[in-house]
Amino acid sequence: SKFVYFFGKDVTDGKASMRDLLGGKGAGLAEMANLGIPVPPGFTITTEVCVLYLEGKKYSEEVLKQVEEAIDKLETLNNKKLGDPEDPLLVSVRSGARVSMPGMMDTVLNLGLTDKSVLGLANKVNDERFAYDCYRRFISMFGDVVLGIDFEKFESLIEDKKKELKVESDTDLDAKALKDLAERFKGVIKLEKGFEFPQDPKVQLQMAIDAVFDSWNNPRAITYRKLNEIDDSWGTAVNVQTMVYGNRGNTSGTGVAFTRNPSTGERKFFGEYLINAQGEDVVAGIRTPDFIDTLGNKIPEAYNQLVDICKKLEAHFKDMQDIEFTIQEGKLYMLQTRTGKRTAAAAVKLATDMVAEGLIDKETAVTRVKAEHIDLLLHPRIDPNAKLEVVAKGLPASPGAAVGKVVFTAEAAEEMAEKGEKTILVRTETSPEDIGGMAAAQGVITVRGGMTSHAAVVGRGMGKPCVVGCGDISIDTKSGLFMVNGHTVKEHDYVTIDGSTGSVIIGKVELIDAEINEDLKKILQWADEIRTLGVRTNADNPADAGLARELGAEGIGLCRTEHMFFGEERIPAVREMIMAEDEKSRRKALKKLLPMQKEDFLGIFRSMEGLPVTIRLLDPPLHEFLPDKEELDAKLRELEASGDSSGKINEVKKVIQRVVSLKEINPMLGHRGCRLGITYPEIYDMQVRAIMEAACELTNEGMKITPEIMIPLVGLVKELAITREEVCKMAEKVMAEKGVKIDYKVGTMIELPRAAIVADQIAQEADFFSFGTNDLTQTTFGFSRDDVSKFVPIYQKAGIIEHDPFAVLDQEGVGEIMKIGISKGRSVKPDLKMGICGEHGGEPRSIHFAYDIGLNYVSCSPYRVPIARLVAAQSTI
Ligand code: ADP
Ligand code: MG
Ligand code: MG
Repeated sequence: SKFVYFFGKDVTDGKASMRDLLGGKGAGLAEMANLGIPVPPGFTITTEVCVLYLEGKKYSEEVLKQVEEAIDKLETLNNKKLGDPEDPLLVSVRSGARVSMPGMMDTVLNLGLTDKSVLGLANKVNDERFAYDCYRRFISMFGDVVLGIDFEKFESLIEDKKKELKVESDTDLDAKALKDLAERFKGVIKLEKGFEFPQDPKVQLQMAIDAVFDSWNNPRAITYRKLNEIDDSWGTAVNVQTMVYGNRGNTSGTGVAFTRNPSTGERKFFGEYLINAQGEDVVAGIRTPDFIDTLGNKIPEAYNQLVDICKKLEAHFKDMQDIEFTIQEGKLYMLQTRTGKRTAAAAVKLATDMVAEGLIDKETAVTRVKAEHIDLLLHPRIDPNAKLEVVAKGLPASPGAAVGKVVFTAEAAEEMAEKGEKTILVRTETSPEDIGGMAAAQGVITVRGGMTSHAAVVGRGMGKPCVVGCGDISIDTKSGLFMVNGHTVKEHDYVTIDGSTGSVIIGKVELIDAEINEDLKKILQWADEIRTLGVRTNADNPADAGLARELGAEGIGLCRTEHMFFGEERIPAVREMIMAEDEKSRRKALKKLLPMQKEDFLGIFRSMEGLPVTIRLLDPPLHEFLPDKEELDAKLRELEASGDSSGKINEVKKVIQRVVSLKEINPMLGHRGCRLGITYPEIYDMQVRAIMEAACELTNEGMKITPEIMIPLVGLVKELAITREEVCKMAEKVMAEKGVKIDYKVGTMIELPRAAIVADQIAQEADFFSFGTNDLTQTTFGFSRDDVSKFVPIYQKAGIIEHDPFAVLDQEGVGEIMKIGISKGRSVKPDLKMGICGEHGGEPRSIHFAYDIGLNYVSCSPYRVPIARLVAAQSTI
C-alpha cells in the first residue's frame, strides 16, 4: 500500500479530503498544490506509518523504500541533492496530525546542512551570513526537537554572543558570529549527548522523522489531546518539504495570517510578518512582528499575490483560513493552510457574514457555531459603563473578562484550581508546557508576543480571556510580584483582564451578564427553522420563566413546586402543614399556602403567555422543610438555660420530635414523590387547586392556558392511576366552580428504571412522559447524586467511566432504559409526547441523543436554552 504521498507543482498524490491519512498540514499542502498555489514541493509520510512505528519502533522495508523514492524525486525536481557539498538540498521536517495541535508537535528547519554543505550553500547564494544563520538554527532546532536538549542552552549562548558584540538583535549578528555559534552549538550537543552532531543528512532526516513520530507521545501533546478530547490512537503524519528562505535579506520574510479577523470575525485580512526571518520567529515572540497591512508597502507584488491566494482559499474551503507563508527574494510561497480557530464572537459573525456573501447556506452556518461558543457569549463581561482603573494595555488576544488571583507559573495555576481558586496566569510568554496551567486559570497575561503568539492562539482555542504583549509589565519571579506603571502586584493579589480590549485592571471588577447580539439572534433563528426537537426550560418563578422566553424557550418542561415552598414568608405555613398531627389541621395549614401557590402559578402562566407549562407536584421528602436538628438542639439548650417559661421549650421539643420521626435513612429512596401524594393527598389537592384556579382566572382574562400536571417518582402504574384520579377530581371541581373549561393534561416523570420497563402500563394512565434523568441516573447506577464527588472523579481518573453520568447522559445504560420506556410507551400511545428534563437537557451530547431516540423536546435551565436550540438544529443536519 501507499505510505508516502508527494506534493508539488506537477505531481500531487493527495488532496484535502485525505486529512486522516495525511494529517491537516499534509492535506492542506496537497490541496494548495492542486489549486495551483505556489507550495515548495515535498512529501507526506502517513499517520498510518506513525501508528505502526510507535507500536514497534521500526519501519517496514516498503516504507523505507517509498521514502527513499520520494527523496530521489524531490532531488530530481529541485535539481539538488541532500548533503551535496556544492549545492545542497535543504528540507524542513514538519509534524501534522489529523486536527491541528498548535505548537504541540515540533518542526525542524534547514535539515541537510553539514560542515561541508554549509560552505556550498554560502558559495551558491554568495552569502555566508545567511548560510551560517541557517546552520546555527538547524543545529539548535535539531538539538532541541530531535535530541531533547533544553532550548535555553542554545538561547543563552546567543544572548552571550550579543552581549559580547554589544548588539541588540539576532539580525545584527554577522557571519563570523553565527559561524562561531554553530560551532558552540555542536559543542553543546557533544556535551549533552556524548556523540557528535550527525554529519550525514540521511541520518539527520531519519532521526528527525523518528522524533516527529515520537513527539506524538510527549507529555504536552498528551495533555493537549486530553483537554481537547482528541483520540490518542490517530498518530501524526510527517511532512518533508523543500526549504524556502525568509531570511535572505530585505525582500524576504515570513508570516502567519488569517483570511479574516479571528478575534472579531471582521472581514479584513489579519496577520503578522517579519522581514528577513525564518519560520518560527513570528510565533515564538523573539522579535515583535509587524501588522500584515504594512507588507504591501515593502514587498507589494508578493503582498498582492498573497491577498489573491487568500481569496482563492476562502472561496475553495468556504471558511476562514489560517495560513503560513514565506517570501524568498520577492517570491511568495505558501507553507500551510487550515481552518482558522476563532473566538465565539468571531464564529457567529463569520457564519452570518458568509451566508450573506453566499459562501455557505444556513445549515452550514448553524454547524459553524459550537455549543461552547454560545456558552462563552453568554458569559459575563465587564460593564461597559463601569469606572475602571486600567493600569496597562496589551493586545486583545482572546476576548472575554476574567477575574482571579495572580500566579506566575502553570503549576501554581493548576494547584490553585484544585483548591477551587480562580487565577490569572501572568507569564513573560507562554509555551506548550503551560497548556495545563492556561486551562486551569481564568485568564492569561503575557508580557511579550503578538496576536498570533502561542498564548493568543491557545487562548482563543480554549476560549480563555487573554491579554498578550503587555510590555509595561515586568515580572520579578524571585520576589513573587510584577510591576506595572508604578503599581506593584503581588502573587495572589486580584487582577481583572478584558481580553476584548486588552485592559489589565488591578483588583476584582464586578462582571455583568452577557447579551445576545443581532448575529447570534440570526443564527438561533435559523436553528429554530431547522430543528424539529422542542426546547423548553426548567423554571419555577416568573423571572426565570421570562428570561427563558427571551432566550427562546417554547414552554416550561419542569416547574418544581417545592422551590415555591422555601420562600421566607411561606416557611411558617409549610412547617405548620408538616407539624400537623391530623388531616384536618394539615388542611388548615394548606389553606394558608393555597393563595401563595396560586400567585406563583399566575405569575408563571402570565410570563409564558399561553405556552405549555409542565408543573411537577411536590417531590422531596417533608423533612427537607424543617430546620436542622442540631440547630434545634442548640436552641433548646439556650431556652432551658435562660429558664424560659413562655412555653417555647415545649414547642421546640415538639419540632425536634417531628424532625426525628420524619428522618429517613435514605431520603432519596424514601418518602417522596407520589408516595407523599398518596399518603397525604391533601397536599396535591391544594397544589392542583392552585394550578387550576390560576388557569381559570387567566382563561377568563382571555389567555389560553394549558397546564401539564406531572406526577413524580412513579414506578407502579397504580401509583399513577390513583394520583391521576385525585388530580382530575380536583381539576374538574375547580373548573365547575369557576365555570371554565381548561385543556389540562396529567402525565408522569419516568425516573425509575421500573417505570421505563413497565412504560406500556404507565402510558395507559399518562398524557405525557418526561424523563427525569437526574433520578433515573441515580437509580440506574445506584449512585447517590449527593455523594458522587467522593468517587466519580477517581473513577474518571482510573478510566472506569469517561464522564460524570450526572453531567453527560450515560447512553449505554441510562439511555438504553430510556429507549425501552419510549418504545413501550409509544406501543400503547403512538403519539405520546415525551421530553427530558434534568441537567442533561442542556448538555450537547445528551441533546443529540435525545433527538436520536425520538424525544419531542428537551428542557433545561434558562441560560442553556440558546445552546439547546443550536444543538437541536445541529442534530437534524
Ligand atoms: P507548526 O505546526 O508548529 O506551525 P510548522 O511545521 O508549520 O509548525 O513549521 C513551523 C514554522 O516553520 C512555520 O512558520 C513554517 O512556516 C516554517 N516552515 C516550515 N517548513 C518550511 C519550509 N519548507 N521552508 C520555510 N519555512 C518553513
Ligand atoms: Mg504551522
Ligand atoms: Mg426526580
